[in-house]
Amino acid sequence: MPSINLTCLTCGTVNRLPTDRTGQKPKCGTCGKPVNTPKVTEIDFKMLTKASKRDQLPLIVDFWAPWCGPCRMMAPEFAKAATDLGTAVRFAKINTEDEPAASQRHNIRGIPSMIMFKNGKEIARQSGAMRSDQIKAWVNSNLA
Ligand SMILES: [Zn+2]
Repeated sequence: MPSINLTCLTCGTVNRLPTDRTGQKPKCGTCGKPVNTPKVTEIDFKMLTKASKRDQLPLIVDFWAPWCGPCRMMAPEFAKAATDLGTAVRFAKINTEDEPAASQRHNIRGIPSMIMFKNGKEIARQSGAMRSDQIKAWVNSNLA
């Protein structure tokens, strides 16, 4: 049976899951927390590096900071897009003020910026605040 790697965004364990179970509320084999929820998970640079290199389910990461007004405006839109898109993709956010190495590593020039990772690679990036329907359209266009 085909399977995929999915990093637990809570403890960092890379779980191997049968492809047909990724949408069935899989739990981490190490910490028992859900590994694929339609919610936005706050991650740090270490977790970002691991998940962006190892995950085979698309991961969409919002690079933001608390002082950035457009970032704060976009946060609920990003969360809504995550809920609407369900478990086909995962959503995470990283605070670039706390994790400046993440911005450097990924060449973030302005925030908010979103990067979509799949199979260890960046497959798309988008800068500027967007509404949830625009975020969904962007994700879907890059999944196709
Ligand atoms: Zn875990």
